[in-house]
Amino acid sequence: MANHKRTLITSALPYANGPLHIGHLAGAYINADIYARFLRAKGEEVVFVCGSDEHGAAITIRAKLDGITPQEVVEKYHTTIKKAFDDFGISFDIYHRTSEPLHHETSQAFFKQLNATNKFIQKESQQYYDPEAEQFLADRYIKGTCPVCGNEDAYGDQCERCGSSLSPTELINPKSTLSNATPELRATSHWYFPLNDYEAWLKEWILEDHPNWKKNVYGQCKSWLENGLQPRAMTRDLDWGVKVPVEGANGKVLYVWLDAPIGYISATKQWAADHGKNWEDYWKSEDSRLLHFIGKDNIVFHCIIFPSLLKAHGGFVLPENVPANEFMNLEGRKISTSKNWAIWLHEYLEDLPGKEDELRYVLMANMPETKDSEFTWKDYQTRVNSELVATLGNFVNRVVVLTNKYFEGEVQAITGAELNEVDNNAVKELAEFAGKIDADLEEFRFRDALSTMMDIARLGNKYLGDREPWQLIKTNEAATANVLNIGLQIAANLAIAMQPFLPKAAGRLVAMLNLSETNWNQIGQAFVPGGHQIEKGGHLFSKIEDAVIEAQIQKLQGSIQEETPEVELKHPLKSTIEFDDFVKIDLRVGTICAATPVPKTDKLLMFTVDMGFEERTIISGVAKHFTPEDCVGKQVCVVANLAPRKMRGVESQGMILFAEDDEGKLIFVSPQAGTQNGSVVA
Ligand SMILES: [Zn+2]
Repeated sequence: MANHKRTLITSALPYANGPLHIGHLAGAYINADIYARFLRAKGEEVVFVCGSDEHGAAITIRAKLDGITPQEVVEKYHTTIKKAFDDFGISFDIYHRTSEPLHHETSQAFFKQLNATNKFIQKESQQYYDPEAEQFLADRYIKGTCPVCGNEDAYGDQCERCGSSLSPTELINPKSTLSNATPELRATSHWYFPLNDYEAWLKEWILEDHPNWKKNVYGQCKSWLENGLQPRAMTRDLDWGVKVPVEGANGKVLYVWLDAPIGYISATKQWAADHGKNWEDYWKSEDSRLLHFIGKDNIVFHCIIFPSLLKAHGGFVLPENVPANEFMNLEGRKISTSKNWAIWLHEYLEDLPGKEDELRYVLMANMPETKDSEFTWKDYQTRVNSELVATLGNFVNRVVVLTNKYFEGEVQAITGAELNEVDNNAVKELAEFAGKIDADLEEFRFRDALSTMMDIARLGNKYLGDREPWQLIKTNEAATANVLNIGLQIAANLAIAMQPFLPKAAGRLVAMLNLSETNWNQIGQAFVPGGHQIEKGGHLFSKIEDAVIEAQIQKLQGSIQEETPEVELKHPLKSTIEFDDFVKIDLRVGTICAATPVPKTDKLLMFTVDMGFEERTIISGVAKHFTPEDCVGKQVCVVANLAPRKMRGVESQGMILFAEDDEGKLIFVSPQAGTQNGSVVA
């Protein structure tokens, strides 16, 4: 299958501005780790790199919140994050950091090369400046009222309440978070990368050459490309980051999304230097394969922006695949750092020490591979107890304990005359696992691969149940020896197949079975020889009690920090919709130019609404609230793309918006006087 000689695997660089939670692990780390371990088990050449992203306004803002310096922030969280990865067995070959001098040199050289070959456009723009703090403000340094939902704490790039992406100039009453001053617009000059120039190439490279990319990834790229690309500023006015290495760029640093992916290159360089290898084998050689593991929020940076930068620079390989995951939710809500709705990895290990593989297992089984998925503590308990304990652990324990009990831990050679059909079938079924997990993993189907691994345990469990060696021993010792031999072959297969998924438990099983050297290609084979001595048994996993789960659920519920206090609502909030659902609604401004009662009803009014581009007839059930005279001349908001509906023989072509107060009184939702008819409300 492989037309590559070696593989470079990258996982998204986490921001060193907070600890990691389960959503991080499920998004871009466990899957990459499984893949790296799988390739290593097969004996392939692979390097798995990652590191802390220590630049960007997210770091400086954290520093300000915590009252410490940015350097102190990244020291603290780099350490916390690195430890969490180690604890959960994420097997990076190097975990680097973007504050390393090597990274600064590497990204500056990259920038210089692009600048020297005229790949940037230098452009002046108006940007908010804090006159008191005497500095330009990154988007995140500006807060104000969201023009969409009215949230007074919206950021310059995004409103976290309604999810709208914003630009700072859209905020109402903008304030600098540095000094609380009202920022003023001033001219500043930046280096822009003309992404639009790469559109045609990207269309060919992604849409034509990589139809095999995961649907969620391919679809998001396609929609970006269809909407058209714009030049992007690659520099920022900020005092924390990689300094722009050209003249006239004082006080400017590289845009964090230019510098962060170059972090993969500098991490590889450091690893190569540490191990006497050549980093260019991985980045500049055609027989090398590059894979980026990321969450869906990073797709545009890894599929569109970074490849275009690599292409503009020249000489680098491009990603062969970007198997991005969607998001994992928690107990019915989005994971939220600011609301503390999360399971933090370091806290998990404090509460459930030694249960790293259990969490890996549940996150893998629910991995958001193709759509958002969900973690619940009940599901965690069920999966651990019924799958890891009752199926996998129980099977292994029975084989090992019985082999010790009946044969002093020695694997007995098969007595051919005593084999029956059930024995032969079990061996045959085991053989069918050869190459099966490989096929799933090669296509990045991690959930399927995990389930195939568990099928080996299911086979073992069923086989023991069918043959009942604890009964058979009373009548036929040779047949019992055969059953335990075959059972051990299945357990030994598991010890290999578990390695990418449950590395710690696999290690315990390898030790229990006393297997010295194993390799991935043994899967499917009965490779443990007669006379082999195994160790004493033990439980690979232990049951999770109800009280533990209850405590976790209570802890989670108790730690949530709601942004607004709970209030009794007469009209409870409807369930959350996606931004994509919201933008489907076409809201327009119109003026009511005529209103008449609809005959034979006391509820309906028929309006003629001037929409600017056409007149619409709209029927509303508001005759008890307004007289026709109340309405004529009113400017209103109209749902302009609602499917037409016939009422009393008349077609209603839209819907007028009203606000209803707690007393049930209706008020027109009107824009400011003098708004042009047909204006889009968004
Ligand atoms: Zn908003």
